[in-house]
Amino acid sequence: MALNTDELSLLAQTGELATQHVAPGAARWARERLTGTELLPLAADVGLLGLQVPVAHGGRGLSFSCKAQAAEILAAADFGVAMALINTHNVAEQLARLASPGLARRLIPALVLGRHSACTALTEPGAGSDFSAIQTQAMAVPGGWQLDGVKSWITNAVHAEVIVVYAQTHAGAGAAGIAAFVVEAQRPGFQRLPAAEKGPISTIDAGGFRLAGYRCTEEEMLSPPGEAFKDILGAINGARTYVAAMCCGMVGEALRVASAFGNQRQTFGKSLLGHQGWRWQLADAAIDLEAARLMVRQACAMIDAGQQAQSAAAKAKVFATRMAQKHIAALMHAMGAEGLGENYPFVRHLAAAQIAGLVDGSTEMLLERIAKDLKVP
Ligand SMILES: Cc1cc2nc3c(=O)[nH]c(=O)nc-3n(C[C@H](O)[C@H](O)[C@H](O)COP(=O)(O)OP(=O)(O)OC[C@H]3O[C@@H](n4cnc5c(N)ncnc54)[C@H](O)[C@@H]3O)c2cc1C
Repeated sequence: MALNTDELSLLAQTGELATQHVAPGAARWARERLTGTELLPLAADVGLLGLQVPVAHGGRGLSFSCKAQAAEILAAADFGVAMALINTHNVAEQLARLASPGLARRLIPALVLGRHSACTALTEPGAGSDFSAIQTQAMAVPGGWQLDGVKSWITNAVHAEVIVVYAQTHAGAGAAGIAAFVVEAQRPGFQRLPAAEKGPISTIDAGGFRLAGYRCTEEEMLSPPGEAFKDILGAINGARTYVAAMCCGMVGEALRVASAFGNQRQTFGKSLLGHQGWRWQLADAAIDLEAARLMVRQACAMIDAGQQAQSAAAKAKVFATRMAQKHIAALMHAMGAEGLGENYPFVRHLAAAQIAGLVDGSTEMLLERIAKDLKVP
């Protein structure tokens, strides 16, 4: 899909944000285990936090294709930052679609302006891939709902103020009983858990929280049982596609850095690039990167056209995450010991490629999805 001038301008500014702020900070954030929250206002200035949010809600109302390209640009510098920013954006966009006018007016502006971060919480200590097995309970009480349970491995949970929580309204009902609720971290009954889950990419700010007697009003049920599961499955096609785009961003950057290194590093009297066996590794990466980008572009076009993108998104994510896992490791190896240095992105990107293979549907879950769509008798 051809992007309009507004979208191209946003992508140009995203490129500046990535090169001037994200890339220079990434090594320090990783070393000092710091988070990238300082970027929220800068991302808001560029328009990233309201990219797909309708103009009427203070956003930019741009396309999914534009969002995926922004994700690719940001992830080339740091996957964690890209995920953290996009997860805040996603909650603003979901509120614009599903919240009552009053709730939307109260919560969206602070997200779009980068004053608060947000997250989407499905995963629990006992349920990841098997989402329908979540145990967080929503019990009807006078005037609303009471939420009790624990969520873990949630992007942005270290600092998020607004959280979309998926909870079971009817024990044993599985997917049909799951509803989505808006939770605010400042209210009684919300307790952040110590950030033991940061993992190797600190900028993704993954963490957990406990809900103990947390009260929601009726209005704060964002999506009722029966619809919440369908809504998240629709949104997840977008997430799978932009994670695939992020993998392309990381491999593109690894390829750029390895090429530049291979041009100046000499062995046996010539540059590394002068050795056929060495440069073929780069050619292999370039081929797979182009194929992954085409798959991402196809899924983006289907999403923007309102078509069913379930299979295209799953295929793009499986291919792109495997491509990133393979080629970032190979390109890092091609750099020799130098590739381990913190001024290069390889170690961070390699860990990120592993995370990409889990979030928003692990490779195995997506293979199941693709196999179902084959409709083999
Ligand atoms: C950094 C990070 C950020 C995250 N952010 C979020 C977030 O914002 N919100 C959120 O809700 N979750 C988030 N997650 C959680 C993520 O969605 C889960 O990790 C993912 O769903 C897999 O669940 P699990 O880790 O519990 O693995 P499990 O479900 O326990 O699976 C373990 C392994 O077994 C495989 N497996 C499971 N079942 C089968 C099967 N039937 N057949 C074959 N293989 C199988 C899986 O693919 C996986 O490799 C995040 C995770 C990470 C690492």
